[in-house]
Amino acid sequence: MKLHSIRLPHFNDSAEILTVKTIMPSKVVISMSQHGGVPCTPLVKEGDTVKTGQLIGTSDAVISAPVHSSVTGTVTGITEIINIMGKRNKAVVIETADEQVMHESVKPPIVNDRESFIQAVKESGSVGLGGAGFPTYVKLNYDRKLSNVDTLLINAAECEPYITSDYRAIIEEGKELIEGIKLIKSYLEIDNAYIGIEADKPKAIEQLTMMCSKEQGIHVKKLPSAYPQGAEKVLIYNTTGRILKEGELPVSVHCLVMNCSSVIFISKYIKTGIPLINRRITLDGNIINRPVNVIVPIGTQLSELLNFINVRKQPNRVVFGGPMMGSSVYDPETPILKTNNAVLFFENTAAGQEPTPCIRCGRCVRACSMNLMPTELEAAYDARDIEKLKKLKVNICMNCGACSFVCPAKRNLSEKNQLAKILLRNGG
Ligand code: SF4
Ligand code: SF4
Repeated sequence: MKLHSIRLPHFNDSAEILTVKTIMPSKVVISMSQHGGVPCTPLVKEGDTVKTGQLIGTSDAVISAPVHSSVTGTVTGITEIINIMGKRNKAVVIETADEQVMHESVKPPIVNDRESFIQAVKESGSVGLGGAGFPTYVKLNYDRKLSNVDTLLINAAECEPYITSDYRAIIEEGKELIEGIKLIKSYLEIDNAYIGIEADKPKAIEQLTMMCSKEQGIHVKKLPSAYPQGAEKVLIYNTTGRILKEGELPVSVHCLVMNCSSVIFISKYIKTGIPLINRRITLDGNIINRPVNVIVPIGTQLSELLNFINVRKQPNRVVFGGPMMGSSVYDPETPILKTNNAVLFFENTAAGQEPTPCIRCGRCVRACSMNLMPTELEAAYDARDIEKLKKLKVNICMNCGACSFVCPAKRNLSEKNQLAKILLRNGG
């Protein structure tokens, strides 16, 4: 079996440039909802002084992740923001002080077994840094009676154009990646780890292969450069040959899948106790003079990034994430979340690509790695036909955008699927 995929141009101009450390914004806006699951409740109020790494948001819910201050400063308000998914949530606004001080609570956690390791990961605020933002500790805390996980899969595919934040993380922090893999393998008793990486990253492959040659049970798996190689189902199949069926989680096929930047973060957290307060993001797009990766405090606003970057002209479109799965952002006050890996600046707007009638070429069907029928799904959504949308399995669409990308009629197929899923969630 071969899963469908497409070839994309990559424009990875930031790949060989050392990451800039660190932009310090004049204020941060830290969302209480930057993970899959229940939003946190703020633990601070206006007028409080906070230090870097201090816990400022928490929740008792099982699926959630604590939020920490990314800067030292003064809380100037608790505000409501609309996040890039269009949801309202609370955010803590902090004016940055001149002197940055680490909070007293920041110290390496005591870890000596599986439970204490998972607890430490929980307290670190770690979420999946590949974009989904699922709390990491929940993923690690799978039921060992139900699933015997024998394979740790490290997602280093980074298949979207422009984005090189994972690549730079591997090049600059490869040692931490291997240490993180060893920690997870050891505490979770997983025999083998595979780092899945696309063939168009030869320097990273060479570096990792050399490092892994000295390790027991850690392997590099070179994958074809194809989109969406980093999608969980695709990565699992192309790395292990195991097939994830509809509704199944990776643990159902004995795999634990983690993004490479998440693993690097965990490795550093166990050593330092510094929670998830910064993010490496790629700044690129077709009007950037010098594409680069930067490390920014979580909560840095788009307006601060616009001050930092060197653009040839004012962008008409800004995308958080990649051009295939990212979201267009219109508010310069929009803050960086834990899950952001890129901000792209473009001259052109999304407008000007009016769809024309479908010519029944079938390219969208051949592009879909989930074997869906994008044309049929579009028709079912337009007719608001709930039963048909269910039958056509719109729920397993991962909004990869491949169908829209290949469509010569410029039909917004992927977008319609997102709307269809919202329609189903809201009961029609
Ligand atoms: S967006 Fe959905 S329907 Fe389109 S190619 Fe991706 S998975 Fe298939
Ligand atoms: S790719 Fe576009 S034009 Fe071709 S079948 Fe799909 S929707 Fe129709």
